Amino acid sequence: MKNYTLIIHGGAGLVFNHDKYKDSMQKVLDVGDSMLSQGQSSLDVVECCVRMLEDDPLYNAGYGSVLTSEGNVEMDAAIMDGANLSNGAVAAITNVRHPISVARAVMEKTNHVFLVAKGAQDFINTLDNIEKCNQDDLIIDYRREQLKEAVAKNEVRLDHSSLDSKERKFSTVGAVALDTSGNLAAATSTGGIVNKKFGRVGDTPIIGAGTIADNNSCAVSCTGFGEQFIKISVAKRVADYIELLGMNAQSAANKVRDELVQKVGGLGGFIVIDKNGNIGVSHSSPCILFATSKNGIKNIGVNSQDLLKV
Ligand code: ASP
Repeated sequence: MKNYTLIIHGGAGLVFNHDKYKDSMQKVLDVGDSMLSQGQSSLDVVECCVRMLEDDPLYNAGYGSVLTSEGNVEMDAAIMDGANLSNGAVAAITNVRHPISVARAVMEKTNHVFLVAKGAQDFINTLDNIEKCNQDDLIIDYRREQLKEAVAKNEVRLDHSSLDSKERKFSTVGAVALDTSGNLAAATSTGGIVNKKFGRVGDTPIIGAGTIADNNSCAVSCTGFGEQFIKISVAKRVADYIELLGMNAQSAANKVRDELVQKVGGLGGFIVIDKNGNIGVSHSSPCILFATSKNGIKNIGVNSQDLLKV
């Protein structure tokens, strides 16, 4: 049997009702696992998993994204192919259901790696296979209430960091995969953070901060306060420890988690698959919602202690 590995995440933070997330993570994991077991590419799998998570209003990506201080949706996404280091990213886009597929189109249909704001929006309008929508079609009522509360408290905050008793907590999404041909890929998509300034870009679409894939090291997808993740280049740091120091996914992830905390007081988490198919999940926040499959052996967890030894 040829080996494959998949990890998806639905954000890191503080979550009260895990079960609701588990059902949703299970569905996405099953689809991604079945694609990989049939020999599909890691790139197609991470895009597909992230598209499914973007469609689910439980998460802060695509439909159900958080709002800027002006009450708008501005989404960021990135995808990377570890086989050849091709990548594509978008920031501050709206009017589209699946930002991750726009990021893939940037990768495959332009000579660039990163499009933002109006240029990205104009690019979207040239794409036939991308599902466009009105901004209002992406906004759920909870997001309007959440913004009101954040504005009243004068807070810019992680989607899921509030301690209020409302049970719906949403989060950035991501996927990393190693396919049966030995290729790694990573994808991450987000609405960003609640009450952010318009034009603010987080770590998600920045290669080396929130997302990376390189067959020589690993694939990483992050979630947390983007400003902190950018400051210490979390994803690239994990990749460097694996490539240059020979660490495995979990030990590199734990080391970078500790550095994130020590250097910038960083809050969040990340998922890692190294080039040998080892799994790493690490977080400085109380939880990270994740699901893994290694050659069809599946596991769903809310913190790194839930990791199966496979
Ligand atoms: N990392 C994302 C950002 O800063 C937010 C998140 O992970 O929830 O835009």
